[in-house]
Amino acid sequence: MSSFKKLPKNIKLSLSFLHSTDRLIRTLFTNILWDYCERFDVEPTYDKVTVVVAGIGDTDESFVGVTYEGNNRYAVHVYDPCLDQANDTVSTHRLVSWAFVTALCHEFVHVAQYLTGRKPEPNTFVKDNEDPEEQYFFDPYEVEARILEGFYATKFGVPLRNHSESE
Ligand SMILES: [Zn+2]
Repeated sequence: MSSFKKLPKNIKLSLSFLHSTDRLIRTLFTNILWDYCERFDVEPTYDKVTVVVAGIGDTDESFVGVTYEGNNRYAVHVYDPCLDQANDTVSTHRLVSWAFVTALCHEFVHVAQYLTGRKPEPNTFVKDNEDPEEQYFFDPYEVEARILEGFYATKFGVPLRNHSESE
């Protein structure tokens, strides 16, 4: 897969993080989008779209990330441990955790799914259609994002994981 590709001009990426990781997160997003396109032989939209990505702190414990779809706008919220005031971020936590990188990769796969209009293949998991939890876990979009999150974190996420703020 080729690297150093740029984000298409019609796709505006806006980032809101407390740590100074904008360049790294922009590169992560760009790499994932182009890998996704090459891997599945699809193209990103030519529409003007805006993707807003923000770290969220002080959420309930189960929150990892979510992507909202609007009118050519996408809002990605990811739990960012560095915002969690209950944690001692200085001594016991690195500013960028592996879980944070993986959560970003998961949501960026969803954005790639939306921007390319690709529908993942239906899978053969037998699911209870009455059970919202089963609907969610075995949904083809979710299954694909869960497969790719770890792959992309390992392939593209290491520089972000290794980020540390200069004093
Ligand atoms: Zn998901």
